[in-house]
Amino acid sequence: MPRPIIDTEECTGCGICVDNCDHDVLDIVQDKATVINEDACIACGDCMEECPMAAIVEIEED
Ligand code: SF4
Ligand code: SF4
Repeated sequence: MPRPIIDTEECTGCGICVDNCDHDVLDIVQDKATVINEDACIACGDCMEECPMAAIVEIEED
């Protein structure tokens, strides 16, 4: 399954990626973007494109 890989050192917890994911894959947990629903990710890349910190470093496909 694809899933975003988040650099938690860079993530500010702004929530933009959460708002831009149409598939409810991400949420903010303890002030960091967190994958909560890996199976729903379609690897569209929208979360990566919108992150102002470039904290979503890749979409990993298992
Ligand atoms: S958009 Fe980037 S900085 Fe903001 S919560 Fe998501 S991963 Fe973190
Ligand atoms: S790649 Fe697309 S579906 Fe997967 S978490 Fe990012 S915005 Fe959501």
